Amino acid sequence: MTAAYDSQNIFAKILRGEAPCVKLYEDEAAFAFMDIMPRGPGHLLVIPKTPARNILDIEAEALAAMMPAVKKLAVAAKAGLGADGVTVAQFSEPASGQVVYHLHFHVIPCFDGVTLKPPGGPIAPAAELEPIAAKIRAALTNP
Ligand code: AMP
Repeated sequence: MTAAYDSQNIFAKILRGEAPCVKLYEDEAAFAFMDIMPRGPGHLLVIPKTPARNILDIEAEALAAMMPAVKKLAVAAKAGLGADGVTVAQFSEPASGQVVYHLHFHVIPCFDGVTLKPPGGPIAPAAELEPIAAKIRAALTNP
């Protein structure tokens, strides 16, 4: 059985405005921000506004409602950074590598011949993430 949702997780705090993030996008169902330990330039996360631990417990309707944002961010990240492709990944429960227990989709721009860094790398300061985020936001506004 899957553990219960913990409303004190860091992404819930980001959603409530209690923890900082480099924000990219928000709509009725989804919120997107830069990953603080990027596996490559432009690594971002898309989360549902509804409290869900991972893909195993989210209601299908809430999942469907957030997926247009995943698509939107994938397109904008690829275009904004001039990437060759994009990886979209989601991990559920510790066995898969999940470490933050609010559902999130990783969106990671990929470049030909460049391998993604392993997870858990150094924390990137907001000043480093902000100019990359600006390019993604610009691509969101002018697709
Ligand atoms: P996982 O649970 O393994 O799918 O990955 C959690 C992701 O959240 C990792 O890529 C972390 O770098 C990222 N992360 C953890 N804390 C924060 C935070 N405060 N702001 C942005 N990203 C975070």
